[in-house]
Amino acid sequence: MKKKILVTGGAGFIGSHLCKRLLDDGNEVICLDNYFTGSKENVVELMKNPYFELIRHDVTMPFFIEVDEIYNLACPASPIHYQYNPIKTIKTSVMGAVNMLGLAKRIRAKILQASTSEVYGDPTVHPQSEDYWGHVNPIGPRACYDEGKRCAEALFVNYHRQNNVRIKIMRIFNTYGPNMHPNDGRVVSNFIVQALRNQDITIYGDGSQTRSFQYVDDLIEGAIRLMATPDEFIGPINIGNPGEFTILELAEKVIKLTGSKSKIVFLPLPSDDPKQRQPDITLARKVLNWEPKVPLEEGLKLTIDYFRKIIK
Ligand code: NAD
Ligand code: UDP
Repeated sequence: MKKKILVTGGAGFIGSHLCKRLLDDGNEVICLDNYFTGSKENVVELMKNPYFELIRHDVTMPFFIEVDEIYNLACPASPIHYQYNPIKTIKTSVMGAVNMLGLAKRIRAKILQASTSEVYGDPTVHPQSEDYWGHVNPIGPRACYDEGKRCAEALFVNYHRQNNVRIKIMRIFNTYGPNMHPNDGRVVSNFIVQALRNQDITIYGDGSQTRSFQYVDDLIEGAIRLMATPDEFIGPINIGNPGEFTILELAEKVIKLTGSKSKIVFLPLPSDDPKQRQPDITLARKVLNWEPKVPLEEGLKLTIDYFRKIIK
């Protein structure tokens, strides 16, 4: 049955893939975005579909609409962007959650929150499972994002407990793919753009810190399955790829796959940069019967093809 679905942050990297998938599945999609980090370019193809609607709106302000489901993705996700105006980042996570939860409550819609592995901070347990409470510096440079997202999770569970709102909390681990912003400063886009331009590849620190990189299609499949779970299941649930790589390994792979002449340079490590991050996806395997399918090299090739087309 055709559903009416609201996607906040729908013109961003992940949001644009989600809108496309929801339309392909035969739904009507309303994409709401203030274009802070997203762009119409990401969804221009979708605008040909009469069941797609694009609305310029800031989630820190209330919004009224009748829909069946809400995916709440609005929030800058790269450290450069979320630290550009940290107060606004907190407002987007917290006031955005309040506004969208209030809407979900009134219209009895199901609502999914795009949370993040950053709620685990610089983790002291490895890999991270959902019952780990995290190790977050509340006054550090990442706090505007991490604490904003933690507060949003608290709002979600309390709207559920107090008002029976049907919620789902998805903790997304590092995700990459086409439609990433070339200047957003995240490691995959930075390295690919640098490699394609034969510029120095900038590793922060000695490159021994690790991340687990998930291709965007895998994430979208996880999100759709999570939304379809019975109301009793609210999460939080980790959605990520457990394959763990050092940042140095990533740089070497990108150089190999692009055939670049770039050299690796080592720059200072930003403060509070997590040393290790890897999802424990036991819960997602069990509840969603889901696991990532796209290996890093394959996903990197698809992402490199995208950046070749858009950068000069
Ligand atoms: P993105 O920056 O590409 O997308 C965010 C979108 O939200 C953009 O289109 C932006 O314009 C919009 N937005 C920002 N503030 C807004 C506001 N106040 N009102 C309306 N729209 C606003 O980032 P992304 O990687 O696509 O991330 C999407 C979501 O997933 C975010 O909530 C992010 O925290 C979460 N997430 C992403 C990752 C990742 O690795 N990409 C990891 C964990 C969590
Ligand atoms: N990083 C890097 N060079 C870059 C960009 C990022 O070495 O040009 C490092 C960064 O310090 C971090 C890792 O790559 O250790 C992942 O950074 P990103 O900003 O992509 O995501 P997050 O730190 O939020 O996981």
